Amino acid sequence: MRLLMWLIFLALWGVASAEPGKFWHISDLHLDPNYTVSQDPHKVCPSAGDQLVYNAGPWGDYLCDSPWALINSSIYAMKEIEPKPDFILWTGDDTPHVPNENLGEAAVLEIVGRLTSLIREVFPDTKVYAAMGNHDFHPKSQFPAKSNNIYHQVAELWRPWLNNESVALFKEGAFYSESLLDPSSPGRVVVLNTNLYYSNNRLTADLPDPSQQFQWLDGVLTNASQAGEMVYIIGHVPPGFFEKTRNKAWFREGFNKEYLKLVQKHHKVIVGQFFGHQHTDSFRMFYSDAGEPISVMFLAPGVTPWKTTLVGVVNGSNNPGIRLFEYDRATLSLQDMRTYFMDLRQANVQNNPRWELEYRVTEAYGVPNASVHSMQAAATGIANDQDKLQRYYVYNSVSYNTAACGETCRMEFLCAMQEVDFNAYYTCLSNAGARSGLGALLVLLGMLLSLHVLLKP
Ligand SMILES: [Zn+2]
Ligand SMILES: [Zn+2]
Repeated sequence: MRLLMWLIFLALWGVASAEPGKFWHISDLHLDPNYTVSQDPHKVCPSAGDQLVYNAGPWGDYLCDSPWALINSSIYAMKEIEPKPDFILWTGDDTPHVPNENLGEAAVLEIVGRLTSLIREVFPDTKVYAAMGNHDFHPKSQFPAKSNNIYHQVAELWRPWLNNESVALFKEGAFYSESLLDPSSPGRVVVLNTNLYYSNNRLTADLPDPSQQFQWLDGVLTNASQAGEMVYIIGHVPPGFFEKTRNKAWFREGFNKEYLKLVQKHHKVIVGQFFGHQHTDSFRMFYSDAGEPISVMFLAPGVTPWKTTLVGVVNGSNNPGIRLFEYDRATLSLQDMRTYFMDLRQANVQNNPRWELEYRVTEAYGVPNASVHSMQAAATGIANDQDKLQRYYVYNSVSYNTAACGETCRMEFLCAMQEVDFNAYYTCLSNAGARSGLGALLVLLGMLLSLHVLLKP
């Protein structure tokens, strides 16, 4: 009898331990505290700038940053869909896209505080790994490579999620690393302040290693490797290029190089990279010098639907998105990723903020999990199969923009996805350009030839 009980216990334990762990990744909430549902198109939201906003709805508008109702709804949707995640990744950008003069340090800190309180209220017992976004500073993007009042204040706001060592480190440079709470996970999350590498940050332009963050990261990853730990890296501004326009990188070139070098050196312990900032849903592949896929970076869509004003981007809005990962607690390997979204137009028409599953990455690209090798297979599929490219393109704006991804779009999306290095990206674009030029030439030759045949006496 006792043996039987033991067997039942072991079987149940086996099932429980095989159950995947889950964690949320949210990014770019961008609260616009002055959003109002007004019939006057000038008065809806300061974040729309000079653009007029007609027929604004209660859940937000594609020209504006998030009203409180949208942000509140997104956090409660997380609670409803998966109330007990192992942890939450939150990769920053909390404030509206308005000029610095209309915000100020106190307003920025107040907004970061409001969002922090909301997440703590809804997930009181969940560990949150949070990174600052370039909009979480005043003046925006000007992150100093030294201790300052904003790093201090934010470290205090996030103290409930941090150990003492992390609080001290955060006050110096807004980065830290902690091991995962679950003792069965030999895992670690590294939170970076990549705003130090952002090309818009004038304070760090001439520094070789702002806040010695690269040196610190190298040390953390070396220690992780010696301790047999696996690592997730998170941050706000990602390395590499924006897929929605051409030649738009976020890091300065030297910093991009240095980051890539560290990923190449330590890729065996880096199981995943999670970033935001673009507001679009996409991913980036990293390769060894020999061309082997070694790492994958997932870029989370924004909760804000705000239409980007970046030059060269057409139709730059998105539906609000949140995402849930499934992972193996013993190895941290990523098993699946699900993006949930609110169809904002419909939510406003029906006055019903519905969050539904947009897609699962395994199902969308026909891959077994979300590992580096599976994502490489997904990337190959997207490059070779027009249907998969189109799917990737529609998910990119969280099912907001359903136009066809033509040849230029294809080039820009694929080169951004596969080439994080500056030179490799430029070569990719020029090769793709040459290929499509050659393709056009062959089509033309074919037409001339058939014309010649037709006109033959
Ligand atoms: Zn943002
Ligand atoms: Zn940003």
